[in-house]
Amino acid sequence: MREMGHFIGGKHVPGTSGRHADVWQPMTGEVVGRVALASAAEMRAAVENAKAAQPAWAATNPQRRARVLMKFLELVQRDYDALADLLAREHGKTVPDAKGDIQRGLEVIEFAVGIPHLLKGEFTDGAGPGIDVYSMRQPLGVVAGITPFNFPAMIPMWKFGPAIACGNAFILKPSERDPGVPLKLAELMLEAGLPPGILNVVNGDKEAVDAILDDPDIQAVGFVGSSSIAQYIYARGAATGKRIQGFGGAKNHMIIMPDADMDQAVDALIGAGYGSAGERCMAISVAVPVGEAAAEKLIEKLVPRVESLKIGPSTDVTADFGPLVTREALERVKSYVDIGVNEGAKLLVDGRGFKLQGYENGFYLGGCLFDHVTPDMRIYKEEIFGPVLSVVRAKDYKEALRLPTEHEYGNGVAIFTRDGDAARDFASKVNVGMVGINVPIPVPIAYHTFGGWKRSGFGDLNQHGPDGVRFYTKTKTVTSRWPSGVKDGAEFVIPTMN
Ligand code: NAD
Repeated sequence: MREMGHFIGGKHVPGTSGRHADVWQPMTGEVVGRVALASAAEMRAAVENAKAAQPAWAATNPQRRARVLMKFLELVQRDYDALADLLAREHGKTVPDAKGDIQRGLEVIEFAVGIPHLLKGEFTDGAGPGIDVYSMRQPLGVVAGITPFNFPAMIPMWKFGPAIACGNAFILKPSERDPGVPLKLAELMLEAGLPPGILNVVNGDKEAVDAILDDPDIQAVGFVGSSSIAQYIYARGAATGKRIQGFGGAKNHMIIMPDADMDQAVDALIGAGYGSAGERCMAISVAVPVGEAAAEKLIEKLVPRVESLKIGPSTDVTADFGPLVTREALERVKSYVDIGVNEGAKLLVDGRGFKLQGYENGFYLGGCLFDHVTPDMRIYKEEIFGPVLSVVRAKDYKEALRLPTEHEYGNGVAIFTRDGDAARDFASKVNVGMVGINVPIPVPIAYHTFGGWKRSGFGDLNQHGPDGVRFYTKTKTVTSRWPSGVKDGAEFVIPTMN
């Protein structure tokens, strides 16, 4: 049993609240550890620590700050296999997928190494007589990130990398389901040369989150998780004047046009729908073939692929996906399959009875495939977050475009087609934040920005890329005039450029 506390002021500290949560190993269904759940007082102590450390870090020149991240990249590479193994054991995803989780995080750290370039302000020489105007981007102070279970390496790095490169001190409140990797990342940042107190990991649940939201010294909160909590974070954090970004759940559609290469589309769909057991905010959960002929062709090719998915323990590198994160998640996803059957959708592949020999207590579910799903059904409207794909048949392109556009979530969407005109029209009109054209999971690369629309994103700046820098800094604009440019006499009229 691993005991996990917090990482505050550069040290592992045990929890003092007396509250803990079990940490499970989904592939065997065993409890493998215990994580402390912080009280508001413990959170406050961490914030005090961060607040004391931050001014010296902000005063460290940007390039030296970037060098710490550069060293961190090297250390994560050194420990890659051990980190991926730990991640897979706590989360349930396969080891190769866990490596991808770490890699997508590192790509944002690589971006953050170049952040000094984006911190440069603007300068206008001679804005008026003897007047120069310049701007600078300054860190906010102490900022926080609250992250979900499904990317325990990538999303923490998306948050703390840019924030720390910009000169802030950071409080990370990772998911209590898989806290092992976030704690290790904080250790590696310290080893890379980060001063104690600049990256703190405070484990916990709602009590810790509320303490972050109400803390007067925390200036900004980046949240990723389910939509109802994202909305709550947005409202409660904004009430205390914080800058908030809250990324929420999703229902990502993939449109398959009649002219699409059906084999490519099916390959894309199977990976994007069932990879990581569907526990990705950019997973495809709705396939929309356009026209009856495309629908029939899709179903014919898809059914055998879903039936032959290889489900295995997280350590089996040949498995397509592993178990779900908890027994509760497994039961919730199964109950959605029951709901779909009761709503009248046609269950073509039923994974509810799946058992893995030797791992009978693991949280496994076989791939499930529904056909003839309609927009009024709960299995269409709600996020299931499991290996369950729904096919909604659209009679034409117009109807296919309307589905994701009118859905309450707006994270990702994809269109598969050879028709450039249709692809362009779709990308321009669809009411969704991230669009893939013949790309099923259009997670933008690190130097672009990531963010969904509608109930998938609350707040107005995206994650990583230039928006990450904007979110974790504030702009100060200085107007300067030297005595040689000063006219005699007082001015009572507002200065203008006339
Ligand atoms: P979750 O909302 O249950 O938890 C997210 C975080 O909020 C965790 O740190 C958790 O401790 C905290 N939390 C949970 N309940 C809380 C409460 N009542 N009050 C305050 N804080 C609370 O989400 P999850 O199950 O960990 O992650 C899965 C969800 O995250 C899915 O909905 C998925 O789509 C979403 N997600 C979104 C993105 C994105 O970028 N849009 C990325 C990854 C995951």
